Amino acid sequence: MSGRRLFPLLLIPFAAFSQPAGKGLTLETVPVHGNVYLIATTLGNIAVQTGKDPGHDGILLVDTGPPGMTPAIVTEIRKLSDAPVRFIVNTSADRDHTGGNDSLVKPGAKLFYQQPEVGIFAQDNVLTRMSGPQSNVPSAAWPTLTFDRGKRFEFNGETVELLAEKNAHTDGDGIVFFRGSNVIATGDIFRTTGYPVIDVPRGGTIQGEIKALNHLLELTVPHAMQEGGTMVIPGHGRLCDQADVTDYRDMLTIIRDRVADLIRKGKTLEEVKAARPTRDYDRRFSTSEWTGEMLVEAVYKTLKAGNL
Ligand SMILES: [Zn+2]
Repeated sequence: MSGRRLFPLLLIPFAAFSQPAGKGLTLETVPVHGNVYLIATTLGNIAVQTGKDPGHDGILLVDTGPPGMTPAIVTEIRKLSDAPVRFIVNTSADRDHTGGNDSLVKPGAKLFYQQPEVGIFAQDNVLTRMSGPQSNVPSAAWPTLTFDRGKRFEFNGETVELLAEKNAHTDGDGIVFFRGSNVIATGDIFRTTGYPVIDVPRGGTIQGEIKALNHLLELTVPHAMQEGGTMVIPGHGRLCDQADVTDYRDMLTIIRDRVADLIRKGKTLEEVKAARPTRDYDRRFSTSEWTGEMLVEAVYKTLKAGNL
């Protein structure tokens, strides 16, 4: 039996505790590797890093869910640790990933004992978007620790690396690599529940998206039999490994190449859409919120705007 075929078996004991959080929303907390846990919700994933030293360590969260979910998320965190939340990392400016920022950092919210100041990390453009004139995001939710290309620090006994993925899903994407635990939280550059949302008005491009997935593949190592391998937490959907990222990258590369080919043949956007370059993937990845046709339009626009 190959290592790859063993992988689903390894996940069976991980099925941990789950709780309904109202309005049909369910949260499930799953150990990933080392210090890292996944709080999986129907509205997106939150990664939790914990430590073992109560005097020095704390909680680091990757993303905070949509607004209104904080009490349910805190209940899940408290099953893992009593330590205070010290850091939040936002993987983009999307409200389904930043909606709990302000309620988690609010002093006096009494969600955590000895509530310290909570640092919020994100790429520079996340702050630009959140603090811009069009934004109605409260200032308490804005990032306080921003980076351009990346940032590296030690927390909970391991190196945590934040890496910008430029102009992929948006112009503010970042991923989090827990080096010791060997886990990467990707945000919405990678999701198992649908195509990546290439948000062209907010700086997303297909070229940046594929580049980000290739970067992810450089950072990850595959599973070898029962041990090792980098675990990948997508923005939405199930826990993954390198092979899943490879499949996703290949799918998008094929779609990109099909659209590029049609553009070279002089086809208009309507003609490209009519050719349905995503046809064979739509059953798996097209959703009512972000259809194959919407992806094709985003790919077409960004290829037309850049180099083919
Ligand atoms: Zn999302």
